[in-house]
Amino acid sequence: MRRPMVAGNWKMHGTRTSVAELIDGLRRLDLPSDVDVAVFPSCLHINQVIDGLKDQPISIGAQNSAVESMQGALTGEVAPSQLVDAGCSLVLVGHSERRQIMGEQDGMLIRKFAAAQACGLIPVLCIGETLEQREAGKTLEVVGRQLDSIIEELGVGVFAKAVIAYEPVWAIGTGLTASPQQAQDVHAAIRAQLAEKNSEVAQGVRLLYGGSVKAANAVELFGMPDIDGGLIGGASLNADEFGAICRAAGN
Ligand code: PEP
Repeated sequence: MRRPMVAGNWKMHGTRTSVAELIDGLRRLDLPSDVDVAVFPSCLHINQVIDGLKDQPISIGAQNSAVESMQGALTGEVAPSQLVDAGCSLVLVGHSERRQIMGEQDGMLIRKFAAAQACGLIPVLCIGETLEQREAGKTLEVVGRQLDSIIEELGVGVFAKAVIAYEPVWAIGTGLTASPQQAQDVHAAIRAQLAEKNSEVAQGVRLLYGGSVKAANAVELFGMPDIDGGLIGGASLNADEFGAICRAAGN
């Protein structure tokens, strides 16, 4: 059985004061013991969050990391080894905002994924199609290609120590959510694609859904057989809402 995971992506939100309030809210939550819970604060607030949640069952991740695993001459970047040193255990790779706004492409994401794993971080690979691609009937082709770029270069075995988040770009921050069936169809296709190479890896890997998940739609989404939890943006900035989403992923 796959253990569900709910992860909050705080994006470029927060000040020291608002992050302290969010930490307080998270500390007060009654989190389910059968769900892995993680938060991804901005890099600037990682130390504050690690200190504030150190006795809590919440893992901390970064939203991005460098293409090189070890610290060195790479201005403006943060090395996976530095994230591990700070106490992070996860890192997002290929969030659609970075693909679209920062121009990150498959070649760079392969390097980031490999560099993160080389340091023991768990990469959360984000994949998903735009509205235009969905309307053109290309969803599975696009998502399949994004996944294949990692498999071809690094091998399917890397997903034994990684998480995949399916995030349709048209559903991120828009209030539009993929229906549970739409999301399940893509998740099933992702798992089938992995199973063609290695069925054990395919059965074990956690596939999160992301895109306007809220407490009100989480139960239905997480009830689908291939949806193992969620990557939550906006709703993760409210501790009570996030807690309710975490509970929706539990039994
Ligand atoms: C995200 O940014 O990963 C995300 C899913 O955002 P939201 O929940 O706000 O749509």
